[in-house]
Amino acid sequence: MSNTIFAKIAAGEIPADIVYEDEEIVAFRDVNPQAPVHILIIPRLPIATLNDLTAEHAPLVGRMLHLAAELAKQEGIAEAGYRTVFNCNAAGGQTVYHLHLHLIGGRPLQWPPG
Ligand code: 5GP
Repeated sequence: MSNTIFAKIAAGEIPADIVYEDEEIVAFRDVNPQAPVHILIIPRLPIATLNDLTAEHAPLVGRMLHLAAELAKQEGIAEAGYRTVFNCNAAGGQTVYHLHLHLIGGRPLQWPPG
């Protein structure tokens, strides 16, 4: 079991600005947005990091990425472009140890990232 803040959001124990949810996935706006659109897409399954994925999780992660593209269209940023990011572990910038996909857009984004 996971007791991260994201597990609590998925369970409805902590409020969030939820933009999509189904039996496997929840998407909600980041509390500290880095761009006009900043949505976090999480599995309900408490997978800690990208390193913990198994082959069985591949369809789930595929659905998360497909949802990112659908939400980008819904948010009106698909044509201009956007970024999707999984941060993994400390050097990757991960701070919440429940797998999450960032969907970031609505302004020009710099590359390389910091
Ligand atoms: P990470 O650094 O782990 O890749 O991303 C974690 C993200 O979660 C950060 O962008 C941070 O702003 C966001 N975050 C942390 N706590 C909360 C929360 O309680 N609610 C929401 N909506 N976002 C959060």
